[in-house]
Amino acid sequence: MERIYEKDSGVRRATARVLGCRAADGGSEVELDRTIFYPGGGGQPEDRGTVGGFPVLGFRRLESGEVVHLLPQPVEGEVELVLDWPRRYDHMQQHTGQHLITVTASAEFGLKTIAFHIGDELCDIEFDAPKVGRDVLDRIELRVNERIGEGRAVRITTAALDAVERGEVRSRLLPHHLDGPLRIVEIDGLDRNTCGGTHVADVAELRQVKLLHTEKLSRGTRVYYVAGQRVLRRLATLLERQDALTAALQCGPDQHMTVLGSLLARAKDSEKTARQLLGELGRVAAEALVREPGPAVFLHRPDGDAEFLRAVASVVSEKRPDLVAILVAGQAESTGRAGHFAVVGPAEKVADLGPRVMALLAGKGGGRGTLFQGKTGSLERLEEVRQIVVRGS
Ligand SMILES: [Zn+2]
Repeated sequence: MERIYEKDSGVRRATARVLGCRAADGGSEVELDRTIFYPGGGGQPEDRGTVGGFPVLGFRRLESGEVVHLLPQPVEGEVELVLDWPRRYDHMQQHTGQHLITVTASAEFGLKTIAFHIGDELCDIEFDAPKVGRDVLDRIELRVNERIGEGRAVRITTAALDAVERGEVRSRLLPHHLDGPLRIVEIDGLDRNTCGGTHVADVAELRQVKLLHTEKLSRGTRVYYVAGQRVLRRLATLLERQDALTAALQCGPDQHMTVLGSLLARAKDSEKTARQLLGELGRVAAEALVREPGPAVFLHRPDGDAEFLRAVASVVSEKRPDLVAILVAGQAESTGRAGHFAVVGPAEKVADLGPRVMALLAGKGGGRGTLFQGKTGSLERLEEVRQIVVRGS
């Protein structure tokens, strides 16, 4: 099969002859005498488009190295191939961007590329260094964009198989079955690299490259980046997010971090105050409980929390060690926050009632001696818990 994209990445339409077509999982596998579709590999995603008017669903590489196209229906004779050009051109920009970043990072900063990947939103390159600081990223980015401004031709050439060993070309990974000459992607005066993917014809077509954040990996550092039209798309996404923050925080972008910082500090203070108040509330509620005459009491506080229950339990233990108290905090409706429960009283009663209450509340927890406590799973059977106290068993 003639791979037209290998010689000319700009071909968007072509006709081809169907050499074979057989039923396959999800449609028909079609063998063509020539193709304009890149089947994916080396970090670059596969192309999309149509063959004979049917969408290309995917590709499968046969053991022989040949690639078949997966279509929803069978085709025969002469077929027209139409490439999803915007998707492909985006991949060409991202991929050529990788070549430029890789050669710049390697030649000027000693960073070796070990992997590369074009994602739906962001692309990434993995370097063999444990850390790549923002200062280094900024310097690579500056050099890469200077080179884009210089406008250097990107050419496809060939080299003998041993050119890699002789250090004449750069190569990350070569297929095992390769026997012919190597396909070389050359950036004029800068880089010669073995590659099977698709690239723009001049680095000027990248327009811009932006290096984003990094991620630590066990074997190195992943650097995210965008090239070409993705730079503007990324900027638009970030501006949209900034506008949403401006509306939510009711202040301009230069004030976002200040306002957010004071909001977070206030939220932390409020939480602390709420915890203290709930603790005090617990002690007040406990004072009422310990005055009740019966041998057992039940308390459910929807807005209570674990702190509240601990406060109640500690007052009950101290003032009425003979009293059995079954305590529940939390909303019956799911609010996303777990509820809590506690059973406090004489050890033998707690040993019996604790697990029963936990089972009725579908909870998790445990305890020893005079206190059994945990989180609730559901308050659906709360009434049955209350009945334990009413019935006195
Ligand atoms: Zn390439």
